[in-house]
Parts: sequence; structure tokens; C-alpha cells
Amino acid sequence: MKIMDNFIIKCNNCNNQMEIDKEDLEHISSSNERNMGPEIQHDFTGIYNCDKCSNEISFTISGWEYPSRINNYEDSTIDGGEFVDVPSVDINHENNEFNDNLF
Ligand SMILES: [Zn+2]
Repeated sequence: MKIMDNFIIKCNNCNNQMEIDKEDLEHISSSNERNMGPEIQHDFTGIYNCDKCSNEISFTISGWEYPSRINNYEDSTIDGGEFVDVPSVDINHENNEFNDNLF
């Protein structure tokens, strides 16, 4: 999974807006075995300091694939600021070559 686009967050302390580069986020994935196969959770996390007031803003954007390669659910949390554009996550469709070769 990946974040679709760069997005904007706003500092709760001074209302400064900052663009977050989707490539800068830390990506952690984990999986749980369930009855239709693995459920894969992706967490994208970032911690930024406001460039105007140094307020710390931290967030996590999560997406779940279940069954594998189906975007089942997504959620996001943020502390110290808010999302101006709510970022969305989606499956890496460009990585589907492997599945196509099965047929
Ligand atoms: Zn600020």
C-alpha cells in the first residue's frame, strides 16, 4: 500500500500549513492470519515540528488489506495539528505483474 498524494497538515498552535511529502513517511506493515488469509496492516507515520512555532505534530495513517490486495479499511490519527486534505491510501497497483502471470 502507499499514500496516494502529498497532503497538507495544519498546526493547531499557529494555523501554519505545511505540505507533507508522501515519500518522507515511515512505512511499517504487519500481518495477521485470518480465515480468508492474511490481513495486512500498513502504518505510515510522521513526526514534524511546525516551521513557524516548533509545535510538534505527529500522525499515523493506517490502511488494511483484507483479503490480500483489497483495500478494506483506512484510518488516520493526528496530534498537535489537523489534516487539511485527508490523505488516502491505496493498493500499489503497479505491483500486480506477479498476479497477472498466474493466469
Ligand atoms: Zn505552529
